[in-house]
Amino acid sequence: MPEYKAPLRDIKFVMNELLNSEQHYASLDGADDATPDMVDAIIQEGAKFCEQVLSPLNQVGDQEGCTWSEDGVKTPTGFKEAYQQYVEGGWPSMTADTNYGGQGLPHSIGLVVSEMVGTSNWSWGMYPGLSHGATNTIEAHGTEEQKQTYLTKLISGEWTGTMCLTEPHCGSDLGTLRTKAEPNADGTYSITGTKIFISAGEHDMAENIVHIVLARLPGAPEGTKGISLFIVPKQLPNEDGSAGERNAVSCGSLEHKMGIHGNATCVMNFDGAKGWLIGPENKGLNCMFTFMNTARIGTAIQGLGSAELGFQGSLAYAKDRLAMRSLSGPKNPEGIADPIIVHPDVRRMLLTQKAVAEGARALIYMAGQQVDVVHSGKNEEDRKHADALLGFLTPIAKAFLTEIGYEAANLGMQVFGGHGYIAEWGMEQNVRDSRISMIYEGTTGIQALDLLGRKVLMTQGEALKVFTKEVHLFCKENADNEQLKEFVEPLAAINKEWGDLTMKVGMTAMKNREEVGAASVDYLMYSGYAVFAYLWARMAKVALDKMADGTSEEMFYNAKVQTARFYFKRMLPRTRTHAETMLAGADTLLDMPEEAFAL
Ligand SMILES: Cc1cc2nc3c(=O)[nH]c(=O)nc-3n(C[C@H](O)[C@H](O)[C@H](O)COP(=O)(O)OP(=O)(O)OC[C@H]3O[C@@H](n4cnc5c(N)ncnc54)[C@H](O)[C@@H]3O)c2cc1C
Repeated sequence: MPEYKAPLRDIKFVMNELLNSEQHYASLDGADDATPDMVDAIIQEGAKFCEQVLSPLNQVGDQEGCTWSEDGVKTPTGFKEAYQQYVEGGWPSMTADTNYGGQGLPHSIGLVVSEMVGTSNWSWGMYPGLSHGATNTIEAHGTEEQKQTYLTKLISGEWTGTMCLTEPHCGSDLGTLRTKAEPNADGTYSITGTKIFISAGEHDMAENIVHIVLARLPGAPEGTKGISLFIVPKQLPNEDGSAGERNAVSCGSLEHKMGIHGNATCVMNFDGAKGWLIGPENKGLNCMFTFMNTARIGTAIQGLGSAELGFQGSLAYAKDRLAMRSLSGPKNPEGIADPIIVHPDVRRMLLTQKAVAEGARALIYMAGQQVDVVHSGKNEEDRKHADALLGFLTPIAKAFLTEIGYEAANLGMQVFGGHGYIAEWGMEQNVRDSRISMIYEGTTGIQALDLLGRKVLMTQGEALKVFTKEVHLFCKENADNEQLKEFVEPLAAINKEWGDLTMKVGMTAMKNREEVGAASVDYLMYSGYAVFAYLWARMAKVALDKMADGTSEEMFYNAKVQTARFYFKRMLPRTRTHAETMLAGADTLLDMPEEAFAL
């Protein structure tokens, strides 16, 4: 099993040198506590907790899994104790509202900690991760009374949260959900229905669980316009705020699944459970988007984490494992063979993982800064701009990073040869754990429709322009920089082509709506590679500037430039295929009659 080592040097590179976080925090309202020393201390402490407490439990969680009995669900050995330590360390309250016991630190710092938690032990990290989403939802849409009752407990970590959307017959298409909410005379609601695949739906890590549930009121309009949102606690709160009598919600069973065994995936039965409405009637899906957007960025982190974990494990192995000789002559003449890191194809696998992990970190931290500005930007214009940018980047981060994160996890396994397939090294667990990331929180297909259909075409390309303008400016500012030419020129070309392709797809879609669905995943992947090109060009610039000024960390910065070069020469060309395929037309997919598939 790879021992997780928090990549602190790269985390600091992205935060401080690429994204200038000191200046960013100073520009926010109410972020006075986010001083460089404070941020550094948080990250150091977080790294220690993840390396020493969570990482050793990762394989335990996979092998033991969760167990169901009439009395409830038991999490793997050590999970509960680790959660207690997490709560005692004040981690759940880090970015939450100070009025309810939070520390009010910027959300982007929380994302850095989430990266370390998620990479060291994704299954464990989902328990507090879901609480975080429940916290954000109640913070944004709950009444004062709901905030006093539930928010304080979620923020302290005494209670955890879930999101209950999916039902046996629907996941992507929530418009067809059937769970009922019937009003009671006392203003509460009786919730009845079955939710499936509910992560952290039942467990033994906290004294109460706050379910955030989508359900339909009597006579509500059909489809997504008739869905409301409810708080349904496992234990009903007492007058004094403590967890009281058991509510009529229970876990019927646990799913047996491919990976993330340490996280309980529950069938939840609501049998007339008492619930409280959050937000306006029939606007539940809008409110739930607060939860889903948090969770989408959270899931994007899984892509980063699986690439980082695979990279860490396979890099150590590639330096150690001896096999055959380098094509240009022995590099380890005293040994029986050369270490496999000398072989170009092993380099390809390592560099792909490195380019994915570091590019993903840059993308997620950049999105994190937009979250900060949306919450605490000092003026309306900045908040609006950040919101538009975040809306555009979220489906890309969620779907692109999980797709290439999974590819990277597979390459991590491949570097190990047959040993990668054996459980001992943790690489096959990483592959199994990461596979779900492309499915939950909206599949890649659904994210792609959101990006191309809702975000880009419905705004006549305005959402895309928010980002491409920024890229254009960077290219213009650096057009005369000879050293950057190898990055800036292809970036400028991609940036232009991105707009042209959008126009072309938009034109065909005006004639036939099916073209949107036919082009969407290729469009999303193309967009992901384009965003990465921008980030890798910027990272190369920072590194080249540092080297020009003279640095004691020549090796680190040189590796950045080399990885950027690898990205531009060996990964960015994948856009050629996506560009061509997105214009291939819906007929190549739809002309075949349904019956012919079976022939
Ligand atoms: C381990 C695990 C944990 C989960 N945790 C939670 C949780 O905590 N809470 C929760 O509510 N849910 C959870 N889920 C459910 C998850 O979010 C859904 O499984 C997911 O959203 C997909 O829904 P579905 O399974 O119903 O697939 P479907 O919606 O039936 O989709 C099947 C396929 O059809 C495609 N498809 C559907 N509609 C379209 C369309 N219009 N255009 C193109 N393609 C389309 C999809 O992309 C997919 O490939 C979890 C699932 C798993 C497996």
